[in-house]
Amino acid sequence: MTALTPSPLLHWSDWIRASDHHAEHRLKLIEQVEQALLDDRQRSDELCRQLAAQLERWRYQILNEQNGSLDEKDRSLLDDLDLHANQLRGGEPRPPRRPLDAIRSDARDSEPIAKLPTWFDAAYPLDQLTAAAKQVTDRGFSVQVSGGSEAAKRRMVLYAPLYVSSECVNHCTYCGFRYPLKINRTHLHVDQVLEQSRILRRRGFGHQLIVAGDYPRHTSTEYFVELIDGLHRDGIEVGIEIAAQSTESYAAMVDAGVRSLALYQETFDEADYQTYHIRGPKASFHWRLEAPERAAEAGIGRIGLGVLLGLSDPVADVTAMLRHGQYLRDRFPNLQLAFSLPRIHEAPDDFDIPYQVTDEMLVRLYSVCRLSFPDAELVLSTREPAALRGQLAQICITQMSAGSSTAPGGYRDQSEPECPGGPECLGEQFPVTDERSADEVAAWLIQSGFEVRWSFLQP
Ligand code: SF4
Repeated sequence: MTALTPSPLLHWSDWIRASDHHAEHRLKLIEQVEQALLDDRQRSDELCRQLAAQLERWRYQILNEQNGSLDEKDRSLLDDLDLHANQLRGGEPRPPRRPLDAIRSDARDSEPIAKLPTWFDAAYPLDQLTAAAKQVTDRGFSVQVSGGSEAAKRRMVLYAPLYVSSECVNHCTYCGFRYPLKINRTHLHVDQVLEQSRILRRRGFGHQLIVAGDYPRHTSTEYFVELIDGLHRDGIEVGIEIAAQSTESYAAMVDAGVRSLALYQETFDEADYQTYHIRGPKASFHWRLEAPERAAEAGIGRIGLGVLLGLSDPVADVTAMLRHGQYLRDRFPNLQLAFSLPRIHEAPDDFDIPYQVTDEMLVRLYSVCRLSFPDAELVLSTREPAALRGQLAQICITQMSAGSSTAPGGYRDQSEPECPGGPECLGEQFPVTDERSADEVAAWLIQSGFEVRWSFLQP
């Protein structure tokens, strides 16, 4: 990776005067940035953070306005804005962000990724692929147990989603939480979240994933920082699956104790993405695409990528996702990667699933992920039925949810009465198919020969 030195932003002054409606504001910002970078004495961390955030916002405005069709001049300005923001944050010199080039081109494909067309070919025997994937998983994820007297076993990390808010301003056409739908919406206060988390802790879960819709007034950085801090103090290994955040917001969450991020692009096809994400902050394809990179730069060490199978061509989407993983790995060599391939099983009444992915196809897609990234966590949720979860666990899955509720406030102690209206009454995002309890899933895994872990921190 070759780091680039950005040209001074002042070089852009004439062009900005001639082409930007907000020229006056931009020129003032440029001046402040150049001043802060030049004059060490005047530079405060807070000022640098604010200026970096403003450059970041400007950069995404350009990306959104150009909708992916960038000329050389645009690209060059985007790169300069990105590299100056990085300098202001005190980051190591690095090349500019270019994930779009990475997902659309085979120029940097690793050896396994170059084999994807062969593996995806229906003529390539599935049993050969699954056998190879199982061998690679056994090699990479087996652990010695019981002081070494027993043979090594494959480890499986269990986690639980902790839904905290079903408020959402986005209009994702395939989602039961989307803005215009009249569902029972809930936003949990910090103490309610901690209560839910403690129920999960009593069930064994040391690793919990905060999941929320996107409602900026309620699901703010401050709200998440408070949640993460509270959970972290309770000894929970905290992950987040929330709206894409700014670099500064991710940094604040890292300070509060967040350890991992799951952020699925849904589809890497930009045109399809626009048809499914019609309004709201999530409509920005680029803001979402670069979120994992912003999170990694802010210090999040484990990042999960994914696509929502059913929205677009699965082969093209998984190929792009793996290229994105390769791109991130090249830029952050110590980053731990995870991949997940949730399928849409049920959608709101007015949404027809355009690409049906069969069980066999799902097995092929996951096996290909394993062969492309031998050390990545492969994650499977309770959307899938128990029998298929068992089959995939044997082949390549290393992390799975269990006993999940997809509604905020959906976990109850055994002594508490169940909600009389069932999960729909609480407003669940999608129905759970594997309805076994966490204990049942853990017992089944142990019986199937796995070593069950309830967090990544467990030795
Ligand atoms: S997918 Fe997420 S962002 Fe989109 S409507 Fe559902 S909860 Fe909101």
